[in-house]
Amino acid sequence: MSDFILGVDLDGVCGDHAEAFRRVVAQERGIDLSSLPPQETWDFTEWEMDRDEFERLHRLAVVKHRMFRTMPVIPGAAESLWRLSDAGVWIRLITHRLYTNWGHAVAVADTVEWLDQHSIPYRDLCFLGDKPQVEADAYIDDAPHNIEALRSSGAAAVVFSQRYNSEVDGPRASGWSEVEDWVLSLMAASGHTVQPTIPLGLDRSKGPKGNLR
Ligand SMILES: [Mg+2]
Repeated sequence: MSDFILGVDLDGVCGDHAEAFRRVVAQERGIDLSSLPPQETWDFTEWEMDRDEFERLHRLAVVKHRMFRTMPVIPGAAESLWRLSDAGVWIRLITHRLYTNWGHAVAVADTVEWLDQHSIPYRDLCFLGDKPQVEADAYIDDAPHNIEALRSSGAAAVVFSQRYNSEVDGPRASGWSEVEDWVLSLMAASGHTVQPTIPLGLDRSKGPKGNLR
């Protein structure tokens, strides 16, 4: 049987985009971070930001603040992805980060650097302007429109719970251990062999950049 391929989104799933962008917005507006509430909606209405303002600040976030290099990692992402990889899952990272016409070199370089810094394993890294299906067996995403599109095409997709996607129906995962459970049960149910894994604690940071399997 072919590999079980897991399509993994980066922003809002592996990296804390909401917090990274919040820091940039506060800094650019010259206001205290504590006066800017956490992102509650997908389109940032609570930050009084229209599309043009979003574009302007997001560009600064990427090229000036190097947000894709400095973004906090979401707890458990690397550990869970390593365990899934060891269990036989093919990790395919899928990101929408090139949706603009500028800053591609910085966006790609900083993304790869960030993945190395946090020892996140992957076999493929897909930069897509839009997110059609990329032939994965299952997907993890935080964007309501991506989840809807994937599910309407018949794909198995779990929503990575964030404040701004609480209205999206399940399956949902509150954190990476729930993602792991969902993926492993789906993998077993589809007839794939789940390889026994060894406990974490080994220093994976010195290994190859990709999947060690
Ligand atoms: Mg996302």
